[in-house]
Amino acid sequence: MSSYDPTADEALLNRAYVYAMRMHGSQKRASGDPYFAHPIEVAGILTDYRLDTASIVTALLHDVVEDTSATPADIAGLFGEEVAELVEGVTKLSKLELTAEHARQAENLRKFILAISKDVRVLMVKLADRLHNMRTLHFIKSPAKRERIARETLEIYAPLARSIGCHRICAELEDLAFSHLNPVAKAALERRLDKLRNEQGGAVSLVSQEISARLETAGIPARVFGREKHPYSIWRKLQRKSIGFSQLSDIYAFRVIVDSDEDCYRALGVIHRAWPSVPERFKDFISTPKRNNYRSLHTTVVGPRGMRIEMQIRTEAMDLIAEEGVAAHWRYKGQSYGFDSDAAEAAGGRDPLANLRQLVQVLEHGGEAEDLVEHAKMEMYLDQVFVFTPKGQLISLPRGALPLDFAYAVHTNIGDTAIGAKINGELRPLRTELNNGDVVDVVRGPRPAVPPDWRSLAVTGKAKAAIRRHIRQTEKEEFIRLGTATFDQMFERAGKHRRDVSLRPALDRAGVASEPELFEAMGRGRISPADVLDAIFPGLKVETRAAATAERRIEDGKAARLFVRGSGMTAATKLHFAPCCTPVPGDRIVGIQQDDGASLTVHTIDCPTLAQYEDREELWRDLQWTSEAGRDTISRARLTATIRDAPGVLGQACTIIGEAGGNIVNLRMHHRQQDFFDVDFDLDVKDARHLTLIAAALRACPPVEHVDRLKG
Ligand code: MN
Repeated sequence: MSSYDPTADEALLNRAYVYAMRMHGSQKRASGDPYFAHPIEVAGILTDYRLDTASIVTALLHDVVEDTSATPADIAGLFGEEVAELVEGVTKLSKLELTAEHARQAENLRKFILAISKDVRVLMVKLADRLHNMRTLHFIKSPAKRERIARETLEIYAPLARSIGCHRICAELEDLAFSHLNPVAKAALERRLDKLRNEQGGAVSLVSQEISARLETAGIPARVFGREKHPYSIWRKLQRKSIGFSQLSDIYAFRVIVDSDEDCYRALGVIHRAWPSVPERFKDFISTPKRNNYRSLHTTVVGPRGMRIEMQIRTEAMDLIAEEGVAAHWRYKGQSYGFDSDAAEAAGGRDPLANLRQLVQVLEHGGEAEDLVEHAKMEMYLDQVFVFTPKGQLISLPRGALPLDFAYAVHTNIGDTAIGAKINGELRPLRTELNNGDVVDVVRGPRPAVPPDWRSLAVTGKAKAAIRRHIRQTEKEEFIRLGTATFDQMFERAGKHRRDVSLRPALDRAGVASEPELFEAMGRGRISPADVLDAIFPGLKVETRAAATAERRIEDGKAARLFVRGSGMTAATKLHFAPCCTPVPGDRIVGIQQDDGASLTVHTIDCPTLAQYEDREELWRDLQWTSEAGRDTISRARLTATIRDAPGVLGQACTIIGEAGGNIVNLRMHHRQQDFFDVDFDLDVKDARHLTLIAAALRACPPVEHVDRLKG
């Protein structure tokens, strides 16, 4: 602290440090660290923001009242009233569950906002506390608790950090919450980012140099650099627009830092003369700052080599406020160190806590939902938006709700037949986000209709349930198409025509009543093409097998010894191929002796299941594939893929596998999310090399985000 505040009270800090350490004593964090490590970290985060002595002392003491025998009176006696009030403020917040059911949430949120609005330092300590807890969230054992904390962070704390302009804290909170709430999407996104970084990373310094050069020629001193956007902000954009990202401007924003407000506009002029600007992307937050005092010019231009380039033009002071918000205004002034409200007002021209204060007034006067509509700022804190039917009925929806959500909230029939919406009297697209006070009139068609791009058109459970019905229907149609294609291929190979025969025997064998159902069962892998062929042409079975190469299946049992050899195997040894890692010829393998003593389970050497046998060396057997194993054999393997959701993508993936010579035995879809789904393929393949080829072919297919062997 002494590096930024010459008046820092070292004695008080020392006392708080020792007191907190003594009070927390031998308590432990979920990570196994001493509990005291936590308040130290929280205090450390706040010194990065150069907060005053009382804030840092509060950070050190923030959990003693909640978690130890210390009382508020003890704190007041030892550290004074200022610290005692701050600690009390933070303690109150710790007890509130902000993602409880609706009624309790509203009440808790009311208490929460009352507590933090008294002194912005309470909120700063709470945000630092939450930031450290999020950084260590992976140590918490209960998945439900992790999810609750991550959700609360995303819905309450990150928006609060943004509302007081602390962008850096907000971004880190969002990215941490995102990786807990949606690990699949986060991982897929990061892989894509890696790829784009490799492809376009070099362009960043070229673009920076080019912009610098232009500004230098015009006599404007400037610092120019490219900054990568945060994963969660990219994800939010992808969800909003339901499109992919490929442009430099999707990942990088370029900052142009100049000396004065005037230079911001001069630099903008130079840039707009050098490259064409993209219409509607120019925003002037200098003449009209955001509510959290953010100031900057934003523009997007089509720059060198036709790349879209997103730019933020601002001064050094604006940049500091953009990153740190309220926290940028603590400084040494006159004789003391503290929040410089004059500087804060000069920088933004308004009180950063004005939003909160206004809200508190409404709440203290027993405000109702209708009042909140007046206070549109509320949207930042309550995840709600209030809109009206043409007759004036109030409908409350989650923030981000779209006209389809509104339609289903009014009546299921209205939702089912919605084809458009008039918002405040004007016809608007179905993807228009509703705002507080909007009057929404749903335009209905004669019969239930599914908008073709339904995926991105709703946020509420009710609307989503209806949409899920449509997902299932679409999925079913996709499986039928897939099965039909497989069926036709099979007939063609056998030299037969579908119209010449009755499919009745195949329907009976599959236990279904109609041809579409048979094709669906084939598409889903419930009945294999070989079984269908065998049912229809019992005699042909032998003929086609004979015609094909003599394929031998590598299967469990004694016969497997033809394909696998190794130490300690006798004539009676049975081999069992582990279903977790599905070894295929070419994989490095190991055998685990089973309890019966007569059989071995074969795993790939990198199978995670093996971890449980690590300290039982006596069970491990060295195994190798024999030369028989690669010779006209087939075996079962498993791939898992993450695919960007779009019509027909599953069929596309299946075609690729088929063309690569893989035979799909079964597939299972899971983890369907807004933009991605995971699908597991059970495949018949020749060997590990064949499987690698299939995986590579899938990876080359654009909607496929990720492909891997499924192990463990
Ligand atoms: Mn804490």
